[in-house]
Amino acid sequence: MNAPTRNNREALAVLILAALLVLVLALWTLDRVRDRDTVATGTAVSTGEVIHWKLVTTWPKNLPGLGHTPEVFADMVRELSAGRLDIRVYGAGEIVPAFEVFDAVSSGVAEMGHGASYYWKGKIPSAVFFTAVPFGMTAQEMNGWLHYGGGMELWEEVYAPSGIVPLAGGSTGVQMAGWFNREINSLEDVRGLRMRIPGLAGEVFSGAGGEAVRIPGGEIYTALQTGVIDAVEWVGPYNDLALGLHEIAEYYYYPGWHEPGAMLEFTVNQKALASLPEDLQAIVRHASRAANQDMLDEFTARNNRALREMIEVHGVKLRRLPDEVLEALYAGSQQAMAKLVADDPVAAKVQQSFAAFLRDVRAYHEISEQGYINARRQVMGELISP
Ligand code: CA
Repeated sequence: MNAPTRNNREALAVLILAALLVLVLALWTLDRVRDRDTVATGTAVSTGEVIHWKLVTTWPKNLPGLGHTPEVFADMVRELSAGRLDIRVYGAGEIVPAFEVFDAVSSGVAEMGHGASYYWKGKIPSAVFFTAVPFGMTAQEMNGWLHYGGGMELWEEVYAPSGIVPLAGGSTGVQMAGWFNREINSLEDVRGLRMRIPGLAGEVFSGAGGEAVRIPGGEIYTALQTGVIDAVEWVGPYNDLALGLHEIAEYYYYPGWHEPGAMLEFTVNQKALASLPEDLQAIVRHASRAANQDMLDEFTARNNRALREMIEVHGVKLRRLPDEVLEALYAGSQQAMAKLVADDPVAAKVQQSFAAFLRDVRAYHEISEQGYINARRQVMGELISP
């Protein structure tokens, strides 16, 4: 008689324990969904709930231009989602240092990042194509290749193993060749110069006799001021004025052979993106596309005034790189490209698409964009002579 009673009690205790376990699990799940401090792991979020994301950048917080775009993007997402997706932007070093942004997004420390793909060329050689390669495409051409020429699909393929979805994150347009403290009249003047210049262009510069150094934007000023480096390329008049580079270098060179249309990137943790309801995923994609164009518009509007201020107020000396130097840098670029594609089959695949698009678009742009700009200068006169 006693045995069945004991069994019943034991069964009841097991049932109560199981019910408690289910309750605890339910409360824990509810808490996880409510307080999303970490990356979501595939759970769909119900409509109307506020989701908090972190966006880490490779720029100093609130840097004009490059640092403005992720803020523009976050504002757009907030507005379009009626506040349901709240993205907070962090400057370099606030959560992770500039050059750890890619890993932070890959591992889910942050849901999103903003930076430049060529910073990751040490681990992903083919990534250089999605920012800029020497003598490559302009901003307009890059946008055409990425969004209508197969470039975006290749970029997604390149980042997929890292669990990252890339999105175009704004273009600076043609950059400046950079800041020097002595005139560059021949290739001889490049020899021995330590210059901050990232990407494939850095290898080209080293091949031409200089020494390329990789330094994030926030550390450039001090590095040049203290003589750790002799020369620097950053972006163009608007962003370079904001960093104060005119205070510590005398000569400002053009054209930006190394970055004719530097494309920035938004990186999104793939699982975090997939965990969003479909409408928020669409908002992230469309807002990034709008922020991408917004950066180019801002630089186009502000570069001219900044250049005038540098020359007229700060006495900056504007110079054009001599043909001899440009030709040597082009020859070096071809060698660096040949080595890149020989060493990395993925880079070879991306290069094939990039080069084919560039060949086609050049043929048209020589008679359209370039044809028009040349004609305008011919009839209206030159404003800046080499
Ligand atoms: Ca640059």
